[in-house]
Amino acid sequence: MAEFTMELNDEQKEVRDWLHGFAADVIRPAAAEWDEREETPWPVIQEAAKVGIYSLDFYAQQYFDSTGLGIPMTMEELFWGDAGIALSIVGTGLAAVGVLANGTEEQIGTWIPQMYGDANDVKVAAFCSSEPDAGSDVASMRTRAVYDEAKDEWVINGTKTWATNGGIAGVHVVVAVVDPELGSKGHASFIIPPNTPGLAQGQKFKKHGIRASHTAEVILDNVRVPGSCLLGGKQKLDERLARARENARKGGERVKNAAMATFEASRPAVGAMAVGTARAAYEVALDYAMTREQFGRPIIDNQGVAFQLADMRTQIDAARLLVWRASWMAINGKPFTAAEGSMSKLFASETAKKVTAQAIQILGGNGYTREYPVERMHRDAAIYTIFEGTSEIQRLVIARTLSGMPIR
Ligand SMILES: Cc1cc2nc3c(=O)[nH]c(=O)nc-3n(C[C@H](O)[C@H](O)[C@H](O)COP(=O)(O)OP(=O)(O)OC[C@H]3O[C@@H](n4cnc5c(N)ncnc54)[C@H](O)[C@@H]3O)c2cc1C
Repeated sequence: MAEFTMELNDEQKEVRDWLHGFAADVIRPAAAEWDEREETPWPVIQEAAKVGIYSLDFYAQQYFDSTGLGIPMTMEELFWGDAGIALSIVGTGLAAVGVLANGTEEQIGTWIPQMYGDANDVKVAAFCSSEPDAGSDVASMRTRAVYDEAKDEWVINGTKTWATNGGIAGVHVVVAVVDPELGSKGHASFIIPPNTPGLAQGQKFKKHGIRASHTAEVILDNVRVPGSCLLGGKQKLDERLARARENARKGGERVKNAAMATFEASRPAVGAMAVGTARAAYEVALDYAMTREQFGRPIIDNQGVAFQLADMRTQIDAARLLVWRASWMAINGKPFTAAEGSMSKLFASETAKKVTAQAIQILGGNGYTREYPVERMHRDAAIYTIFEGTSEIQRLVIARTLSGMPIR
């Protein structure tokens, strides 16, 4: 087990500085343009691929970093540059993690490289779970996958929504119901290979923030995929379903939900994105407060402004510590007995919303315009309390974990 430390090691510092350079030199200068265009910033993704940031190798290296800090450090730096562009760069990772978590070695080796493409022909991937009537309430999912034994194919029908990269992705990972009797335990994940007939993009959403990231509906109309596209394989699925049916027969006794453990491990990454956005806005506000003069002195000379900045920085550092703790716990296989992953996502995302709003206030009229980036950062920050589980759902998970009660 890697020893706990509050400091990044030399190698990590080097990677962090390299990422920061890319965020400062390539991402940040492009942020306003792609926010206005509301389009996927393909040239920036390509640039990231050329230098090795948009690549399976880099992502895997950070994912398996034995301290657990590789992914949070990466997220913080890229999202410091710009949240919309950074999500376009890391969005593929959501689908890749879906395959890493549930796929066989063969599936991992076949599909994850295709999700990224290569520097001359970059691709993105999408993870499609949410539906119009199944957001927080994942168990009410309706997309149905039915096995056609004669052809060894799965037939998938349904409508997914809010999919990051949905429809523009090569590979889509789709969660569907295989046994409606079992609620969320009757779900399975499928690879939909590029250009599969029946998969189409529905409406593309015009959003409040992270506008450089493509978000759309994905329609699945009699999509047929080979049996080999079921993540984990048929035997493992049959065994899992048999266990779930047995548990249901025993009166639905509480079983440890593997999906919950996966969420606890992935949520700190979203917390780290929020820390990146919050830190970016705080830095702009600090700089502005030290240079903007009113009443013959810099506005930071007023306690009313200085104390806000002190609170902002304190909350950002506290958020990062919660994120690092949960990430360290995840890589070391520590049980999340107090839902520490959810805690980190809850605190960091709420902090980003608050800090970016305070940054607008400190910049006064300028903060309210698109001449300065804090207005965009505030719009972007609002997503962190919504996706990967809303703040209310994080509180629900934490309260249930702490109390053991089925709090509703
Ligand atoms: C930009 C963007 C990108 C996204 N990317 C993806 C993606 O790539 N893949 C994917 O599958 N999904 C994605 N999502 C979906 C996202 O995860 C959902 O929006 C989120 O889970 C919330 O679901 P919902 O929007 O249906 O809200 P709802 O579940 O309808 O919630 C509405 C409100 O009710 C509250 N609420 C609901 N239930 C409870 C409860 N029990 N107790 C207290 N409050 C409750 C919620 O907290 C929220 O405030 C994305 C969403 C957005 C906006």
